[in-house]
Amino acid sequence: MMADNTTLSTLVQLSRELGNPANDYAIQAEGNTSARIDADTFLVKASGYSMRDIDEAGFVAMRFKPVLDILDGPTLSENDLKAALNEAKVDSSVQARPSIEVALHAILLTLGGAQWVGHTHPSAWNALLCSRCAEQAASGRLFPDQVVVCGPATVYVKYTDPGMPLAQEVRRQVQNYIDEYGITPKEIVMQNHGHIALGQTALEVERIIAMSVKAARIMLGSYAAGGPNFLSKADVSHLWTRPDEIARRKLLVR
Ligand SMILES: [Zn+2]
Repeated sequence: MMADNTTLSTLVQLSRELGNPANDYAIQAEGNTSARIDADTFLVKASGYSMRDIDEAGFVAMRFKPVLDILDGPTLSENDLKAALNEAKVDSSVQARPSIEVALHAILLTLGGAQWVGHTHPSAWNALLCSRCAEQAASGRLFPDQVVVCGPATVYVKYTDPGMPLAQEVRRQVQNYIDEYGITPKEIVMQNHGHIALGQTALEVERIIAMSVKAARIMLGSYAAGGPNFLSKADVSHLWTRPDEIARRKLLVR
């Protein structure tokens, strides 16, 4: 199954936007993106490419099942993992290797309910995530638009070694979120690492990360001004379920 050109070219545009230095989300080879092609396959950024000037050659089409199977199997040596990931490509003759976070993306595009995923290391978020306040900073909502765009809560993941261990930990925490809220999350933050936006469209990924980075800056300011004053759970739940906000959210995704 080949990726249709629209998905691939939209993914290139999304990646360049997230890699735009003016945004301060990711520099050099930081970050990665993915998109679902169909029920069985997805596109993920290849290893070593910079998002800022990436093109079509910087993405690999992968099959979900063999990638997800690796997560449930025994821990593989580096060489065996490389071979398994090569086998999991839609076309194993393609030279580019998938990002080290390929299994993480497979989880987010299946269990996580996303069609599009953007993972970056925004300085504003990492200032918090690399601090002693990391978990607290991710534990609440500060203003209404943050709830509307980024969802009622953020999934928080403690520092975990990138690659398969991180994919497994994210899977656990996303499942916990689904069990608690009955919906899939729109954003995940990872301690001492970075941010993930889960969208139904590429535009939604851009909107989630932009609003989330604004929230992170506000959060940093709130710590300088005595500490965050989070919205109450009742207020967050009311904002998330208000009919006018649901209508607004639908418009934002289009
Ligand atoms: Zn990362």
